[in-house]
Order: sequence, then C-alpha cells, then structure tokens
Amino acid sequence: MEEEKRKPGRLARLGEYAGGRRGFIHASMVLSALSAAVSVVPFYYIWLMLDEVLRVMPDYGQATGLAHNGWMALGFTVLSVMLYIAALMLSHMAAFRIAKNLRKAIVAHAAELPPGAFDSMGSGKVRRIIQDSVGSTETYLAHNLPDMAGSTVLPIAMLAMLFVFDWRLGLSCIAVFALAALVMLSMVGSRAMKESMDAYQGALGDVNREAVEYVRGISVVKTFQQTVESFQTFRDSILRYGEFVINYTRWCRGRMCLFVVASNSAFALIIATAFAVTGMDWSAEFLADFLFYVIFSPLIAVLLMRVMFASNEGYVVDDALSRIDSILAMEPLSEPAEPRMPDGTTVRFESVTFTYPESDRPAVDSFTLEMKPGTITALVGPSGSGKSTVAVLACRFWDPDRGSITIGGIDLRDIGTANLGSLMSFVFQTNHLLKGTIRSNVLLGRPDATDEEVSEALHLAQCDDIVAKLPDGLDTKVGPGGVYLSGGEVQRIAIARAILKDSPIVILDEATAFADPENEYLVQRAFENLSEGKTVLMIAHRLTTVRDADCICVMENGRMVEIGTHPELVASGGRYGRMWGDYQKSLSWRVSGASS
Ligand code: ADP
Repeated sequence: MEEEKRKPGRLARLGEYAGGRRGFIHASMVLSALSAAVSVVPFYYIWLMLDEVLRVMPDYGQATGLAHNGWMALGFTVLSVMLYIAALMLSHMAAFRIAKNLRKAIVAHAAELPPGAFDSMGSGKVRRIIQDSVGSTETYLAHNLPDMAGSTVLPIAMLAMLFVFDWRLGLSCIAVFALAALVMLSMVGSRAMKESMDAYQGALGDVNREAVEYVRGISVVKTFQQTVESFQTFRDSILRYGEFVINYTRWCRGRMCLFVVASNSAFALIIATAFAVTGMDWSAEFLADFLFYVIFSPLIAVLLMRVMFASNEGYVVDDALSRIDSILAMEPLSEPAEPRMPDGTTVRFESVTFTYPESDRPAVDSFTLEMKPGTITALVGPSGSGKSTVAVLACRFWDPDRGSITIGGIDLRDIGTANLGSLMSFVFQTNHLLKGTIRSNVLLGRPDATDEEVSEALHLAQCDDIVAKLPDGLDTKVGPGGVYLSGGEVQRIAIARAILKDSPIVILDEATAFADPENEYLVQRAFENLSEGKTVLMIAHRLTTVRDADCICVMENGRMVEIGTHPELVASGGRYGRMWGDYQKSLSWRVSGASS
C-alpha cells in the first residue's frame, strides 16, 4: 500500500525534469506492456503446431499448417522484440534527459548556495550526489520501469489463457505465480525491507566516507607506525556494514529460497495436475495443452525476477531523490533586487552571531569590529576560537544569523555578489590553483591584464624564483600533467592573483607552517606588498606578524575578549600580554639552548 502511494510521487518528481520528453516514459511503459502481450502470442502458434503434430502422428506428411504457424510464431517474436527495443529507446531518451536536467539543476542550485556550504558538506558528498545518486535514477527509468509495465501484463495473459487452453493446468500455473508473488511481496513490499534498504545505503555511505579519511591519513599511520586499528571509526564502519549485510542476507535467505523454488517449480505442479486430472490416459489434445504450459511456465520466473529487481531499484531511487533534495532544499544566498556599490571600504561587524548549520554552538558570538581603510586588523586566538569564521563571514560565504556586516555602511546582502567580488580578495590557506597554466591562474584576478601586469604581480608576490624554474615560463601547466608547487609556492601564486586584482579589501589567512624559513620570509613580503593601502583583515598565527598590525583582536570561543595595539595589549597584561610573555620566554629558551 505504502509502495503504491509513493510511486506516483517518485515518477512525478522525476517527470518534472524530463522537459519535452515527459511523455516518453509513459509511451515506453505502454510499448513494453504491448511487447509483453505480443510475446505470449508465439506460444499460441507453437501450441497449434504441437497440436497438429500430435494429431497426425506418425503420418507427419498430413501436417499442412506447420510452416505457416512457425512463421507466425517467429513474426510475433520479432514484433515483440521490436516493440521492446522501441520501448527501451524511449525510456533511455527520457532517462538520459532527466539525468542531464537533474545534474544541471543541482549544479545551478549549488552555484547559488553560500560558498561555505560546500566546506560543511564536504565536496565529495556533492560529487557523489551529482554522479551516483543521479546515475541510479537512470537504471530505474531506462530499464526497471518498462520491465515493471511489461510484467503486469503477464497475469492478465495467463488469465486469458485459462479460457483458450486447459483451465485446470492454467489454474495450477496461476497458483504457482500467486505463491511466488506473495513471497516476493513479503520481502520487497515490507516496511522491514524499506528500512533495510535505507540502513544499507547509510552503512555503505559511512564505509565510503571513512575509507576516504583512511586514505588521506595513510601517510600519518605509516610515519608513526600505527596499525589499522588506529582508524577505529573506519574499522567500526566496516564491521557495522559487514554485520548489517550478514543479518540482511539471513533475513532474506528463507524467503528467497521459497521464491526461487516457487517461481521455478510451476512445471512440477503442472505435471502433478495433469496426472491428477487424466490419470495415465492422455489425449493428443491434452498432451498439446500440457506441453504448452511446460514451455510457458519458465517465463513466470523471469518476469517475477524483473519485478523484484525493479522494486528494489525503486527504493534506491527514493533514497537518491532524498539525497538530491538535501542539496536542492538548501536556501540559496539572497541577491538584492538593486545591488548597491558602497562609497567607502570600512568593513564593520555589528553584533554578529553565526552558528554553522550542523552545529549547536555559535562559532562567532555577538562580534563587533571595525576595520578601516589603510589599516591591518589581526585576529589572534586559540584554534577553534572563530577566526576563520569571521574571515569567511566577511567574504559572505555565509550570512550571519544575527547582526550585520557592512562595507562603507551598506550591508553585504545589499551589495550583491558581483559588486562584492570586485571589492574583495581573499587568500586562504586552502588555496587551490585551478587546472591550467600559471598565467591563467594569475589572470583570474583580472582577466584583461597584460603580460607585463601579470609579471609585475608575480614579482611583487615574490614569485620570481618560481617563474625562473618553470620549463615553459608563464605557460607552464600546474597540477596533474604539469609542475607541482609546494604549499608556500601555491600561496604566493594566489597572492599574485590578489595583487593583480588590486581590490580595496583583502582577507588573509597567514600560512601556519612552512618547512623552510626562506618560503616563510617570501610569503611574508608578498603579504606586505598585497596589503599596502588596503583594508586588511588577517588571521595571524605568528606573534611577530601581529606586532605590526594596527589593531589586534583577541578571540576566544567565538567572542572578542581583547582589542588594541600591541603595546596597549602588552601593557594591560591580559590574555595577549601572557601570550606575548610566553612567546618571549620560548625565544630566550631557544637562544640560550643554541648558545649552550
Ligand atoms: P579558528 O579559525 O579560530 O581555528 P574556526 O572559525 O575555524 O576557528 O572555528 C570556530 C568553531 O566553528 C569551531 O568550534 C569549529 O569546530 C566550528 N566550525 C568551523 N568550521 C565549521 C563548519 N564548516 N561546520 C561546522 N562547524 C564548523
């Protein structure tokens, strides 16, 4: 019943994406049903041939209709196959169009989502939904749905045959069909099955996710000579999956055996019925009927199997649709009807509170801060204190839950994405270079820049040493198939991009760890060149960099706990003062350690 109620929903949902090919799905179901109906007709002609052979036996020369009936059987078989091919062509055309439109809809929607949403969700999840979940709708629409339509014709054809041939043998055939169908329904139609399929998809998803984590962390495991046991969650997810699959298989075992035996044993019941009805005295006519049912009955197993797989695939599609909805249901970032361009470039956070969608604790809480043009504001504080969140909020990767963020007095929400893009550059630690050349990556900052401007930007970003060692200069490809750059080098190229863009507001995340001091020094110089004369917000990890900032904002648990310049904060002897004291002590330890 539940399955019946959900089916129109599932088809209607998918149909929305079929565009002009919506009718193809229904047409393919009708053609498939016709094909199934026609596929029964050759059996009628075979029966006529059997009947004739048995009647004239052993004087086979008397048989006159054999050739005609044989050709008819062949003709209807060919017709049935042609109809089925036509059905599959239509269903594939609809399925591919639906998959294409679904993918386009997800990608288009994703483009309007807050950029932060992808960090929270994990880009792997989005890829899996676009690729795998959409892919699973294809099999269902292209194959399972037409097969289901075809299979529903079988019971009707069987009922019709009751009247054409021997009704007693027909009834035994239907009894077997009904028994097998009941067993099947108890499996695929049950709530337990639906829950099992959901749990199965969940368990499989867990294993996949943990496997990715495992591969990412393999170098750490090897370096520290840990065992696989150290990936406890991965191990647990595999064990849970294994346990689930074993229980599920046990649950299905009895039912599946009964189903296979019932659906394949029609002929045994037919033989028993035949003996029960006529004893040992079989007329030629009865023998022909009997042979007809023996030849016909294996079709039952084939068709029931198809229905069973189609029902299972239905659950997979329901699950895929709910995953697809998890993206489509996310609120896109609002765009103002009339975007406004601010006059000034003072960035102001006013009582901003923001909680990540899947978190119950604000990452930034009642945060107020003003960043003036031509000044550098440094955010410092322990890991997890909300520094990166302030940075991504300033770039409008998310909208705050409460409070407002303004540039030149205008709320980010009223500025519009295009204007905001022109006002702001950001260089984060997780910079990615896009597939392409060094030149194309820097040009992202300002696509109409000349070669000289690109070279100047690279020079200011301290990239001269990188450019010098590139085999094809600016046209060298980066990433797979090209050169590989170190973390510090990638960051300097990203800074060159921002320098070329020359936007008045710059958001920076100072890199935490570079193996070589040379790289650290160059990145530092590049930052200085980029920051000159701009409104700069910097997540600072080194107290030496912080020292020179115009304003230092100390954060803890999403709140600002101190604010001021370096001398002010050291003089007040608060949290920053203590951090600075510890830093000085560590320096003197190092110096004394080196001199001893
Ligand atoms: P910091 O940059 O100071 O290390 P963050 O701004 O990254 O701190 O994090 C602040 C808080 O928000 C932390 O508790 C962190 O766990 C949480 N957080 C950060 N990013 C996300 C995210 N994408 N989804 C959910 N919670 C997050």
